[in-house]
Amino acid sequence: MSEPSITIDSFELARSLQRITGEVAVARLQRLSDMLAQSDGKLRYQIDGVIEQEGSPAADLRVNGRLYLVCQRCNGSLEFDFDRTARFRFVANEEVLNSLPIEDDEVDAIVGSRAMNVYDWVEDEVILSLPLVPRHDECSAPVTNERSVVAAAAPNPFAVLAALRNDGDDSERRS
Ligand SMILES: [Zn+2]
Repeated sequence: MSEPSITIDSFELARSLQRITGEVAVARLQRLSDMLAQSDGKLRYQIDGVIEQEGSPAADLRVNGRLYLVCQRCNGSLEFDFDRTARFRFVANEEVLNSLPIEDDEVDAIVGSRAMNVYDWVEDEVILSLPLVPRHDECSAPVTNERSVVAAAAPNPFAVLAALRNDGDDSERRS
């Protein structure tokens, strides 16, 4: 039902300094959509192949587009303009990846492939870059809703106590 992803040869892309651009519907990215208030809209991506100074194949990935996050205070929808560019270095396999020293925060190393899934890459990058606790600067109406829901669900304990006390008083007076 959903369109197939796009694959690239990451090593060839770097070698030929190729640029690839495209768009993907947010709803097409299932893991990301599950984290959002709405999966409307689309993300644009641009991939620029690079050979780094020491000869490593790499690419700059830019992703941008509007996302609707879930505000962690009011559970409402929070518009968020995502725009991020990151450098990725392609390594040959998991073994090489795991043997790399963790020194360079500027560059992420990932396992390259002759058939690298672009949508998965874009999706991983967005998920890892989202704010951990997204919040409105100022929550609007939904907070009021939240309060009234709480009030309706749980009876006020003081009202319950008062009712009990009144019952007791009544029965005392009656006996
Ligand atoms: Zn909010």
